[in-house]
Amino acid sequence: MIYHIPWIHTPVRTVLAIWNQLTKTEIPELAKCSVLMRERGRVEETIHSMQRAGAGSLQVISDFDMTLTRFAHNGRRVPTTHNILINRLLISEDCTQKLKVLLNTYYPIEIDPSRSVEEKLPLMVEWWTKVHELLIQQRIRKDLLAQAVNESGTMLRDGYKSFFDRLAEQQIPLLIFSAGVGDVLEEVIRQNQVFHPNVNIISNYMDFDPTGALQAFKGLLIHTFNKREGALSHAAGLKNLQGRPNVLLLGDSLGDLTMADGVSEHQNILTIGFLNDQVEERKESYINSFDIVLVKDETLDVPNAILSYITSSRDKKNIIMQYEDELL
Ligand SMILES: [Mg+2]
Repeated sequence: MIYHIPWIHTPVRTVLAIWNQLTKTEIPELAKCSVLMRERGRVEETIHSMQRAGAGSLQVISDFDMTLTRFAHNGRRVPTTHNILINRLLISEDCTQKLKVLLNTYYPIEIDPSRSVEEKLPLMVEWWTKVHELLIQQRIRKDLLAQAVNESGTMLRDGYKSFFDRLAEQQIPLLIFSAGVGDVLEEVIRQNQVFHPNVNIISNYMDFDPTGALQAFKGLLIHTFNKREGALSHAAGLKNLQGRPNVLLLGDSLGDLTMADGVSEHQNILTIGFLNDQVEERKESYINSFDIVLVKDETLDVPNAILSYITSSRDKKNIIMQYEDELL
């Protein structure tokens, strides 16, 4: 019987084992019950393809509020960059109340699964415009922003340090694309010591007068549902992203899916969506829209595991050498 001849059996078994090692996605984090995928096979294929292309072909595009920051901690909501400004140092009690009324009016609209994006869009512009007008009236002081961030209790997701540090070490550009407030966002990542040189930010930036008081917001207003326009208008300016056709995209809103629209000639885009609240109502639309959905996961464990897999050259050569050693 041919199968019992060791010199045939062993090489066949070895080749099969090598093939298995090379094709298997070794990312145990994807098996967690909080991870939902519409097409697991396609996700694995995309990850393999990204790994074969290596770190030099990859860029990461991420939303900030409730994507890189936690949604909640110990049962309390973690503040967004806008909510960090709700501090008596910066704004009055009256302004705080007005902002709360706006939040209670418009946030349910933002996350309402029964309304279309087209229907939400003008209402989001209305919300952001009103918020910015109120903030400008308060003449927020630039020199007090750092203290407000420090006192805010804001928190990046668990595992943020590995996420930012790995991307910096591998010189993979990280584009943070936020409908929040850029000046506050920068201060959050600076205070967490992860504002590395590979980080680019597109957001709403404050314009201060010569005395350091807020007088306007700069440029195109970015809200949750117009990131596509922002992506297209900034694409040309971000030269270091060219020649990186593989994109890992992280977001917590369906509007975040358009953040990669400025990437020309992309090969693979893998999208990861954090589903933070209203899970049952929104689960289906998230599964249909993002490649990977993370349900109530306050960590960056899954993105970190995927990045680790893509950037490790894991060396196919090493695996083959290991089996060759076993053969001898
Ligand atoms: Mg967000």
